[in-house]
Amino acid sequence: MQKNLKMLDELQGIDLKIDGFKGERETLLEEQAVLDGKVAAAEAAIAEKNNELTLFEEEKVSLDESLAAETENISRSEARLKEIKTQKEYQAVSKEISTARKLKAELEEQILLKIGRIDELKGELAGMAENLAAMNENIAAQKGEVQARIDRLEEGIAQDISAREEIVKLLPAAMTRRYTLLREQRRGIAVVEARAGSCLGCNMNLPPQLYNTLFRGDELITCPHCQRILVLRQE
Ligand SMILES: [Zn+2]
Repeated sequence: MQKNLKMLDELQGIDLKIDGFKGERETLLEEQAVLDGKVAAAEAAIAEKNNELTLFEEEKVSLDESLAAETENISRSEARLKEIKTQKEYQAVSKEISTARKLKAELEEQILLKIGRIDELKGELAGMAENLAAMNENIAAQKGEVQARIDRLEEGIAQDISAREEIVKLLPAAMTRRYTLLREQRRGIAVVEARAGSCLGCNMNLPPQLYNTLFRGDELITCPHCQRILVLRQE
């Protein structure tokens, strides 16, 4: 029994180490996800800006078309002007022309504004693309480092898993089952040290009689308060 208890305690140590490694791996995977998120956010911002640019360019095309139509109107009206006979008609067409010219000037102004905004957007986009490229490079390096740490952790986990398998092979199956169940119920800690009359799992005092049995080491003793398996780690 003493030998089994010692192995069980060892198993607990290995399992805690594996839990720790897994926790670290989780943190590192989260770090990687944060880095991926940064790239995705930068890409989304670029896509949004590109959409804005496309919209402005489409608006400019439509303004260009309106401008062309207005220019044609004006030249058509100017041509008509030459053939007009009556004063009244002349005045009407002249008015049409001046309205069209006003509209044309407004369109030209709007087109200039669009061109200005399009150039601005193109400049912003170029800057964003440059930042993204730099970020990608930086993040690839960071992710590489994180991945190397994950790889090392996984190596450690694999080693510990084979070490625990060796122990489990030697332990009575019922004992392993009890240990596994306790670990699930007691937040990963099934085996605890008894020291100076108390259980170090729950810090409650142990009955002296139980403590004596523990010293003999021929029985599996559990804490009456937290039900964890008790072991003595000091001689
Ligand atoms: Zn306890």
